[in-house]
Amino acid sequence: MRKLLILASITTLVTAFGTVNAQGLFGFRLLKLNGEQVVWNTWEGEPKATKVTYAFVRTRTETPDAINCRVMGPIDPLLEKSNIAREAFRQEIRAAFDMWEEVANITFTEIDDPSKAGILIGAQLEPRGRAFTNVAYKPGTEEPRPIEQSLICFNPEQRWKIGFDGNLEVYDIRYAAAHEIGHAIGLDHPPSTGQLMHHRYQEKFRTLQPGDIEGVGLLYGLRKAPSNGPAHPHVHSASATVRR
Ligand SMILES: [Zn+2]
Repeated sequence: MRKLLILASITTLVTAFGTVNAQGLFGFRLLKLNGEQVVWNTWEGEPKATKVTYAFVRTRTETPDAINCRVMGPIDPLLEKSNIAREAFRQEIRAAFDMWEEVANITFTEIDDPSKAGILIGAQLEPRGRAFTNVAYKPGTEEPRPIEQSLICFNPEQRWKIGFDGNLEVYDIRYAAAHEIGHAIGLDHPPSTGQLMHHRYQEKFRTLQPGDIEGVGLLYGLRKAPSNGPAHPHVHSASATVRR
């Protein structure tokens, strides 16, 4: 009787591993839009290093075919309501980009002109939820699909903060931004709760977790061997969407 039970457990395990293998044992999940994997492929020369620009929107910015962040505006209303200084906000966003840049072979550069930026950041003009990401890829058949533009929008009606204080109703900008950037570069929500890309906002860590690193490494390559895995971070929810 006991042997049978053990055998059953092992079979279950083997099955589970077989299914999960490609997604890093639940630690990450690649974003798929219309069933297609997406990735930034804006590298120049060798070695392959992906370069992505970002900018803060300055005026009302409408993206008619976006599902999320369709209408965005300057971040000012958020700063005002949550009493956050503009420069502090900007630095938190930078710190969020740095989390990904430090581990993977992808760089993010802030530019002034939103019309030339790969990733646009702004406040929702149709507030809902907390923060969202919209990912648009180029038409064609290239695989994975090349991302053309990502939009990241924060709800200015919600309260935001810098840092953790245990209040899970008010989200930390850096954690939320890092999570949304994860979507903007091709990651989805993993089933495992211990990752920054998990859909639930938590204040247990404020850096990328092993699954996050494994996922971004698969998409862009890791900068160095993951000897001492980073460990800390956290946001909430974004969904990704497609543009045709
Ligand atoms: Zn999300």
